[in-house]
Formats: sequence, structure tokens, C-alpha cells
Amino acid sequence: MTDQKSLLHFDYQASTPCEPKVLEAMQPYWCEFWGNASSLQSRAGLQASAAVSFAREELAAYLRVKPQRLILTSGATEANNLALLGHARARALELGRPGHLITVATEHHSVIDPLRQLQCEGFRLTEITPAQDGLLSSNQLIDAFENDTFLVSIMMANNEIGVLQPLAELAKLCSERGVILHSDAAQAFGQLTFDIDKIGIDLLTISGHKIYGPKGIGALVVKPNLPIVPLQWGGGQESGIRSGTIPVPLVLGFAKAAEITFKNLERYQDHYLFLQNELWNRLKLEIPNLILNGSLNKRLPNNLNFTIPDVKGSSLHKSLRPFIHCSSGSACSNGEPSHVLRALGRTKEESEASIRLSIGRNTKIDHVKRVVSLISSTVKELREEK
Ligand code: PMP
Repeated sequence: MTDQKSLLHFDYQASTPCEPKVLEAMQPYWCEFWGNASSLQSRAGLQASAAVSFAREELAAYLRVKPQRLILTSGATEANNLALLGHARARALELGRPGHLITVATEHHSVIDPLRQLQCEGFRLTEITPAQDGLLSSNQLIDAFENDTFLVSIMMANNEIGVLQPLAELAKLCSERGVILHSDAAQAFGQLTFDIDKIGIDLLTISGHKIYGPKGIGALVVKPNLPIVPLQWGGGQESGIRSGTIPVPLVLGFAKAAEITFKNLERYQDHYLFLQNELWNRLKLEIPNLILNGSLNKRLPNNLNFTIPDVKGSSLHKSLRPFIHCSSGSACSNGEPSHVLRALGRTKEESEASIRLSIGRNTKIDHVKRVVSLISSTVKELREEK
């Protein structure tokens, strides 16, 4: 096995390590305060419940919403499923018939797949192909609306190409038509500041392990009184929408991770932007015919995704794998050529010869120099072999 420490790590959008202070915040809640937050008759339960309430308030404050609007889940995958399956099924029950749904072809599979499941249940689905820069325009959304469209899902920041959709404009179009807007913000939460009520987002997904918090925790933020049919039934936790014992240490870790993130947000953003610029400029200098995937300006500061012409993707990734921890697509794409890059018009071969580099809090300029030199020398070798 390759020594993890000697690898250049550029895959922080797949996940992030827990901050030491996050581990510290969780530690007492495994063995010392191990109560069930729903067992309010016991002292241990009350302690756990108070800790969860406090953490929920803290998370809600960073989202600028009331704490009751947060439904804690096992992560963004579950939150996306709950939002889409849960709200669509509730609407169909209310109206006595399914209706029309809209999404973008570049969404994460945890959005696309539940929507396709809803198609099997009788709903109709439009998957809009964005422009070549990965962005969706108002006109594209306007054209996609049908008389019975009731739910639209558009991610805030793309996990592969990092682009930021013009959500405020798109949300306005939804609210004018009384259409509910869900947004997967797993990659945006902790990278940007935003106000979901000002933008007009009704359902928002976030995840703990993308912000240096623990894996296995996330949340769905729900607009008050929005109907959702649960995906699982049981003890009625989380306002009856998400039954199951609350993982107290993970919730506390999530809140601590959010606290660290938002207290240092500007510093992290500056750091990412500086390194993103350095990476892109240095790469372009070494490999001039590099193609950037996704808009350069409307993108997350910690992401770069590019296609390298005239190299075979499998050879490229095989050569880089012992030295660089990076991704050819999303961590959840099962090794298939990226559906996101294909939607931007890249061929299968181009998609395979693409690299996503994502920057982390501990990435240094020296790492950037080394990754650029490794990628450029590998590309030169592979091109010479051809
Ligand atoms: N949505 C997006 C945009 C993501 O990047 C991810 C993680 N790759 C998910 C959803 C799934 O998140 P989780 O691992 O918390 O289930």
C-alpha cells in the first residue's frame, strides 16, 4: 500500500479529515455522556438532548434559520433523498396524482437517482443540460417549466466542476410559479456564505464530512410547513420526518466543524483562491492546450477540473495514482466516465483524461508546485510514448 503521508492530497471535495477540535468536541459523548437524546426521563438522556439542542442551534445560526428547520440525517445522500422522494410523494398524496419535476444533468447521483426513481412512480422528469461552462440559464429553466411542475432541484456548487449556479435568479423563477426549490449545498456549505431565505431555497442539503467534520451526519433544512413523507418510520425523531436514534457525538462534531469553518471562512477562502490561481496558471504554462471544465469565475475557490488533450485517461490516472490523491470525477461515480463532463459535451475519452483537483486547508504552495510538476512531466512522457 502507498504511504498516505507521502501522497500529494488533492481530493478534499471527496471528503476532509476531522479537525482535532472536532474530535475533542465529540470525545465525551461516546462513553461519558452516552445517553439517548430521546430518553428524556433519564439524566443521561437529558444531557444528550441538551447537547444536541445546543449543536442544532449553532448549525442553524450559521445557516441563518430557526433550529426547528434542521432535520438531521446520515449525510447529504439521505438529505437529498428525503427532500426529493419525501416532498414529491407528499405532493402526490395531496393532489391525488404525480406531477412534473426538473433538475440539471450535472447533479450528484444522490439527486438524479431518487428523481429517476420518482419517474418509475409516475412522475415526469426533465433533466436540463447546462451550457458548456456548466451553468444553467434562466431561459433554460423557463423553457423547462410545465403546467404541473412543482419541484426543481439545482445544486448550489457542483462537486466535480465546482461551478456555482445562479441560484437567486433561478429561485425567483420558481417562487413566481409556486414551485418548490431544493438545492444540494453539500459542496457549498462551508465554502461560501449564503442566506437561503433571501435566495428563496425551500429545501437545502448539507453534509458534515465536507467541512472537516465527521462522516455519517448531515442535514436537510426545510421551509416551515412544507410537507414531507418520511423515508423511514419509527420513534418519530426529527419532527417525525426522520426516525432513528440521534448520533449525538456526530451532531456535536458537525456543529464544531461548522463553528471552526465559519469563524475562519475568509481566511480559508483567501487561501483557496490563491492556490487555485497558482495551480491554474502554472498548469496552463506547462500544458498550454489544457481545457478547463466549468466556468473559471463562477466556481468554488477550492476546485479545478480540466481535460488533458492527447493523453489516454487510464494511463494518466494509473501513472499519477502512486503520487497524487485526486479524482477523475466524483467519489460516488463507480468508476464510470463522469456524467457531468459528458453533459458539458466532453467525449468519453476526454472525460477519462480529466482531473479534478481540490484544495484543502493544509495545502501549501509547495504541494501545488509538486502536483504541477508531476502532472506535466507525466503528460510529456505519455505524449512522447504515443
Ligand atoms: N451531494 C454532493 C454535491 C456531494 O459532493 C456529495 C459527496 N460526494 C453528496 C451529495 C453525498 O454526500 P454524503 O457523503 O454526505 O452522503
